[in-house]
Amino acid sequence: MKVVDHIAEAKDTLFSFEILPPLKGKSIQSIYNGIDPLMEFKPKFVNVTYHREEYVYKERDKGLLEKVAIRKRPGTVGICAAIMNKYHVDAVPHLICGGFSKEDTENALIDLQFLGIDNVLALRGDPIKTESTFRPAKNGHKYAVELIKQVQQMNEGNYTLDEIKLEPTDFCIGAAGYPEKHFEAMNMATDLQYLKQKVDSGAEYIVTQLFFDNQKYFDFVKRCRAVGINVPIIPGLKPISKLRHIPFLPKFFHIDLPDTLSNELLKCKSNEDVRELGIEWGIQQSKELKEAGVPCIHYYTMSDSSEVKEIARELF
Ligand code: FAD
Repeated sequence: MKVVDHIAEAKDTLFSFEILPPLKGKSIQSIYNGIDPLMEFKPKFVNVTYHREEYVYKERDKGLLEKVAIRKRPGTVGICAAIMNKYHVDAVPHLICGGFSKEDTENALIDLQFLGIDNVLALRGDPIKTESTFRPAKNGHKYAVELIKQVQQMNEGNYTLDEIKLEPTDFCIGAAGYPEKHFEAMNMATDLQYLKQKVDSGAEYIVTQLFFDNQKYFDFVKRCRAVGINVPIIPGLKPISKLRHIPFLPKFFHIDLPDTLSNELLKCKSNEDVRELGIEWGIQQSKELKEAGVPCIHYYTMSDSSEVKEIARELF
């Protein structure tokens, strides 16, 4: 079932979450161990992230170093199929532009359709670590909007490579939004213009980047509505749970921690202190969002569902 249909049917705020494929070589049981504790809260869909290649140097003959590409977390599509099979819940694979030609994308979408997957979250992907700006694959897409257009074209029966009408796909397309602005955007106004293009091109709902200050989300929704973005905007939350998150989350996700939270974090001496505070903050954030009537709250588990469980048991 499509994410937008779940939202349309819902009488209350929905619960959903996102997982990462396990590191290469780990069993799928590690995924189930993360999902099992959250099933009692009846998620309507589970997102599975997509991770492209990273480059590492490997020692070859005579000590020569060779640059090789590895994918540390492959398996997004297979995991989606396994989740749907085991839990009878909708899985939403993330689809990215990076590393994909249009033909690769078309073939990936055909696989998803065969597996009975109704949803995709269409993203550009970040630049890889060895590049300063995002570079599309040969004959690939530069921006998420182009990927969205390709999926939408297939939904209309127009495939990229065969200029003939084929059986249409029927994917519900989601897109990413940034309450604190995407880090490359000149300003919020241009970022919103491009977000509107994604919606006008076929994105039926938006999932936000994680944030810790609800006011940023409320302001973002208001600005979206003001420029004519009228689709559901699902807030994305991540409980802060470790000392190392304090510098990492703002740096990696280009977000701010509000003063009240950062003042409390400064008093934390151990991971356990941070975890307790993070859960409490997540509960308060979620309660306020739920009271405001958001369509769904989407939690980033980053492969560890224990904090999300603590929050969900207070809310769902
Ligand atoms: P876009 O919408 O293409 O925007 C990228 C930048 O280009 C923005 O600054 C925007 O303002 C600008 N822009 C957009 N369109 C145009 C245009 N036509 N002309 C000029 N400028 C334009 N990454 C992964 O690799 N795997 C994942 O699984 C993953 N999951 C994510 C899930 C969520 C909910 C979110 C919020 C992010 C996720 N990301 C993931 C990260 C995402 O790929 C990065 O944030 C990436 O840098 C931008 O992706 P996007 O789809 O928002 O890009």
